[in-house]
Amino acid sequence: MLMQELVDNKVHDETRQGEAFLPQTSAGKAFRKHFYIESYGCAMNFADSEVVASILQDNGFGATRNAEEADLIFINTCSIREKAEQTVRKRLTEFRKLKKQKPGMLVGVLGCMAERLKSKFLEEEKLVDMVVGPDAYRTLPGLVEEAETGQKAVNVMLSRDETYADIAPIRLNSNGVTSFVSIMRGCNNMCAFCVVPFTRGRERSRDMFSIINECEDLFSKGYREVTLLGQNVDSYYWVNSSGNAVTFAMLLEKVAQVSPLLRVRFSTSHPKDITDEVLFTMAKYENICNYIHLPVQSGSTRILQLMNRTYTREWYIAKVNRIKEILPDCGLSTDVITGFCTETEADHQDTLSLFNYCRYDLAYMYFYSERPGTLAARRYADDVPENVKKRRLQEIIDMHRLHSLESMQRDVNKTFKVLIEGNSKKSDQFWAGRTDHNKMVIFPKENHHLNKGDYILVKVEECTAGTLLGKISG
Ligand code: SAM
Ligand code: SF4
Repeated sequence: MLMQELVDNKVHDETRQGEAFLPQTSAGKAFRKHFYIESYGCAMNFADSEVVASILQDNGFGATRNAEEADLIFINTCSIREKAEQTVRKRLTEFRKLKKQKPGMLVGVLGCMAERLKSKFLEEEKLVDMVVGPDAYRTLPGLVEEAETGQKAVNVMLSRDETYADIAPIRLNSNGVTSFVSIMRGCNNMCAFCVVPFTRGRERSRDMFSIINECEDLFSKGYREVTLLGQNVDSYYWVNSSGNAVTFAMLLEKVAQVSPLLRVRFSTSHPKDITDEVLFTMAKYENICNYIHLPVQSGSTRILQLMNRTYTREWYIAKVNRIKEILPDCGLSTDVITGFCTETEADHQDTLSLFNYCRYDLAYMYFYSERPGTLAARRYADDVPENVKKRRLQEIIDMHRLHSLESMQRDVNKTFKVLIEGNSKKSDQFWAGRTDHNKMVIFPKENHHLNKGDYILVKVEECTAGTLLGKISG
C-alpha cells in the first residue's frame, strides 16, 4: 500500500480501518437484537459510528463484536479514494456468506459511499438491505423496521442543520483517556479532487454549549484529551440565541478552559482559514497541543489553482512561517496528493522542495484517484499515468521518511510531559502515552504508582521511526 503513515497518529488511523466496535456500556444489558458495526475512512466516520451506536442502543439494539451473532450488520463507508470503496465492496461479499447462513440478518451501508451511490447500491450490491447517508442516522430505527418487513430501506437526504448535537455518542473501543468530539459537519470548500462536499453536504457548526457539555462530561469520566473534529475546523461559526457569533478561536478557548488537565487537539485546518487568533489562543493555553495538521495537497501554485485550494505555494509558506513565529515549537503535519491532473515533473519538484522547506513531522501521502462527480472529474483529464503517480508518491515518501526520522531524533535526550493512554501493546510492564506533538512514548512503569490518564515527565533516550522510548524523569 502506497499511502503511508510513518508515525502512529490517531486522527486518521490506518490501523483502525475496519474496526468493529463493542461499547463497554452494553455489557450485561438485555437487548432485543444485536448490531455489528465496522468503520472505514477518516476520524469523522469513527465519531459518526459512535452516534449510530447511541441511536441504536436507545432503540433496543446492543453492540456485538462478532458479526456471526449479529442481527444487523452496518458498514460505515468511505469514498475518498477508489481503493477505499473497493475495500468496502470486498467486505460486503464476505457478509454475503454470513447472510446466507442467517437469512434474517440485515445489512446496512452507512456513510459516504451510501450517499454517493444512493439506491444504485441496492442494484449493484444485491445483499444490501439499507442505504443510509451521514445525515440520516436518526431515522435508522425506522429504516430497520422497514427492512425487517422485507423492503429495501433508503434514506440519503442531506441536511443543512443536522449536527447530532443532542446525541451523546457511545464511546466505542475507547481507551478511556482520549476521545474525538465532532464540532461541525460537511464542507463548503469544493476542492476539485474531493468527493466530501457531495457525500457529507453543506458545512454546519454544532451548538457550542453541546460541545462544551460533551467535553465536561468526558473530563468528569476520566478522559484527559479531546480532539475537536471537522473537515475544516477553522471555519467553525456558530451564532447563539442572542445573535453573538462564536468563532473557532473562541470555541478552542472555551474547551481549553474546561480544565487545565484536559488536552485539546483539533483537525483539520484548511490553510486559508486558520487565523492568528487561533494561533494566539494556542500560545495562551498550555493544554492546547502545539500541533497543527495543515494539508498542502501540492507544492505547485499552478496545481493548487486547478485543485481550487485558493492559496498559492508562497501563501502556504507564509502561513507556515507565521505558525513558527507565534508557536516556535509547533509540530506540523500535512496531506499531499501526487499526479493530480496535468501535474508535470516541474510541479512535482515544487512539491518536493516545499516538503524540504516544511520538514513535516507527519504526512499522509496519496496518489490522485479520480472520483466521479467531482469538479476535477468533470473538467480535467486524469492524464498522469498511474506508474508516474506512484513513482512521484514514492519520492515524496522517501523524502518525508528522512524528515520524520529527524523529527523523532530531535526529541532524544529531551524531557516531555506525557499523557498516559494505557499499557504498551507489547508489555504490561510499560506505559504508552503521547507528547504534546502527538508522538507515542513507551517507558517502563518501574515502581511509580501511575494510572492511565495521568501526566508524567519522561526523558526520551532513544527512538524508532514511529516511537520514542524513554524513562520517567527524576
Ligand atoms: N478536509 C480535510 C482537508 O481539507 O484536508 C480532509 C479531507 S480528506 C478526508 C483527507 C485527504 O484525502 C485530503 O486532504 C487529500 O489529501 C486526500 N484526498 C481527497 N480526495 C482525494 C482523491 N480524489 N485522491 C487522492 N487523495 C485524495
Ligand atoms: Fe475535501 Fe477540500 Fe473540503 Fe477538505 S476542504 S473535505 S479536501 S473539499
